[in-house]
Amino acid sequence: MDQTGIKIEDLHLSFGETQVLRGVNLDIRPGEFFAFLGPSGSGKSTLLRAIAGFGPTPQGRILIGDRDVVGLDPWKRNVGMVFQSYALWPHMSVRDNVGFGLRERRVPAKQIRDRVDAALDLVGLAHLADRMPNQLSGGQQQRIALARTVVVEPEVLLLDEPLSNLDASLRVQMRRELLHLQRKLGLTTIFVTHDQEEANTTSDRMAVLDGGVIQQIGTPQELYDRPANLFVANFLGTAN
Ligand code: ADP
Ligand code: MG
Repeated sequence: MDQTGIKIEDLHLSFGETQVLRGVNLDIRPGEFFAFLGPSGSGKSTLLRAIAGFGPTPQGRILIGDRDVVGLDPWKRNVGMVFQSYALWPHMSVRDNVGFGLRERRVPAKQIRDRVDAALDLVGLAHLADRMPNQLSGGQQQRIALARTVVVEPEVLLLDEPLSNLDASLRVQMRRELLHLQRKLGLTTIFVTHDQEEANTTSDRMAVLDGGVIQQIGTPQELYDRPANLFVANFLGTAN
């Protein structure tokens, strides 16, 4: 699969008078598992949503591959996003939930069946295709939400705290599964979390945000060894 990088140049975004992103620059490599880490309110979701095309139009540039997507409708960006509340449609079977995006794109029925089966296989839940969402555990619902997102073959995968509704032990397991899946697909992925442990154990590199500004970018090791400032040191718990 061709892999797509994401470049963000001098991105500013406000809600009315409130400046939320204040000059964000980022260069995410093709195939990278990249984390946005920061406290609640630091602008992680706003930044991710701006990449996906939701929310106010920012100033600056967002390049997905070599295409500046600022101002483009979300469905023209070829991104897949999984939200914190990964609500499946309650009245649709697992198979219909996962196939929804393909039906919207008018993919022929036979192909939909094959691609849905492949996506369900990928998350290990092919045997649950005919269940309804309320017959699934939280972890299973989350896997289905992932299958629903990757089945349309997005160029990049955007995950906004996708594991935060799960209990602690399941979260650790799902973290591993997510990384495994990302490696298998080679899909450029941004993973938003406020949990440093989660960012450390998954990401190739991460950006630490505070107040709508990136405080530091690097591998988990680099950030731990050489935090750029007191905020990063405190947030990662390396200050003493
Ligand atoms: P995070 O995901 O890091 O917790 P958010 O991106 O959700 O942070 O929020 C960043 C800031 O933007 C917060 O101060 C929040 O109150 C503000 N904000 C987010 N969404 C809106 C909105 N729709 N309208 C006004 N302010 C918003
Ligand atoms: Mg958020």
